[in-house]
Amino acid sequence: MILLSLTPIGMRLLAKLDLYCKNEGLQINYKKTKIMVFGNRYRHRTWTIGNHSIDQCRSFKYLGIHFQHTLAWKSHLTAVKLAATRSAGAILKFYRTAGGHLVPPALKIFQSKVISQITYRAAIWGWLVPSFSALEAIQNNFLSRLLCVPPGTPAAFLRAETGFLSISARIHETLLLYWAALPNSTSKVLVKTCFDSAVADRYWSSKFRAVYAHYHIPIQSISTLHRYNFRAQIERHSVWWDRLAISNSKFSRWYGLVKTNHLRANYLSCLLSVQLRYAFTALRFQTMPSAILHGRYHQIQYEQRFCICQQGKVEDFIHYLFDCPIYNHPRSKFLDGLINRQSYNLEDHLVPLLLADNNFQTTYSVAQYALAAQKLRANFLKDIGLQE
Ligand SMILES: [Zn+2]
Repeated sequence: MILLSLTPIGMRLLAKLDLYCKNEGLQINYKKTKIMVFGNRYRHRTWTIGNHSIDQCRSFKYLGIHFQHTLAWKSHLTAVKLAATRSAGAILKFYRTAGGHLVPPALKIFQSKVISQITYRAAIWGWLVPSFSALEAIQNNFLSRLLCVPPGTPAAFLRAETGFLSISARIHETLLLYWAALPNSTSKVLVKTCFDSAVADRYWSSKFRAVYAHYHIPIQSISTLHRYNFRAQIERHSVWWDRLAISNSKFSRWYGLVKTNHLRANYLSCLLSVQLRYAFTALRFQTMPSAILHGRYHQIQYEQRFCICQQGKVEDFIHYLFDCPIYNHPRSKFLDGLINRQSYNLEDHLVPLLLADNNFQTTYSVAQYALAAQKLRANFLKDIGLQE
């Protein structure tokens, strides 16, 4: 139960509560009863019910939300981050053991457990948090570990590959849908009154408008737009920004050509061999061990990132896939039947043909090449006594 008052005097309600409980034969748990005084500065007062003193606290967890006396959300976000990180870790552990390294169930559990933990009651706090980056990191970390790619892999790539949306889009979806339904709700009169007074506040109002504008949703349409359209609009814009990030990314000039939609890639469910799947993902993201990747993490100039085959060639993706003599054997075994380099002299056509994952046989062969090449490279480095 909550007793609310705008003034300390109003808290004489406590005496009334005490009397009521005595009359009804109810007992108050004084240790669990707390007082919180909202305001920017913390001012301590003495509070009592009967002869019992009551603690004044700076933050309090109520119905799963950590309220702070300043109405900041740091405590809540810290608690959410901790819980979500733990859940994500447990899902990864499950994925590697009883989960049989299957990606779709791991993604599904993450979606229903972790995303729900993060977006819980976001309708209340989602407006007022300046950045969701700490929460975004939980998802990015989970996806990069699930796909077995390096931590620096762009978040837009991870989301495009798995069909996920950003955490900020999820949070905004939760809060926009909640507030959009409010004007038509007859059961939430108090919340509606709070909402109206919040909208009248300039600070809140600017926050509302910023989120709507972010998704190009006209503020006039809040009460008329159907839930489905709201969701579709948020998803459309969120995906659009990811596409933009992918096409502008210096991480890989190929990924945007290879992955042209925002659905979970087929091979993540169909390619059941974990090693082949990881090798194929690495090829799609260009995160396989190479001089290019090594150079990126060791500040080596692009032109200096030479291939280990010692032909003086930069170990770029085209060299790795089509030209490097170290991989001649797996290339003739797995790739030559798929491509005719003469008829596809444009690399922009060749790379998507091999990596687009539209045909399982092609994907399977390319994955075999990817894995064989990784092994050959590792052995080659070992033979010449080098390690990356
Ligand atoms: Zn080479």
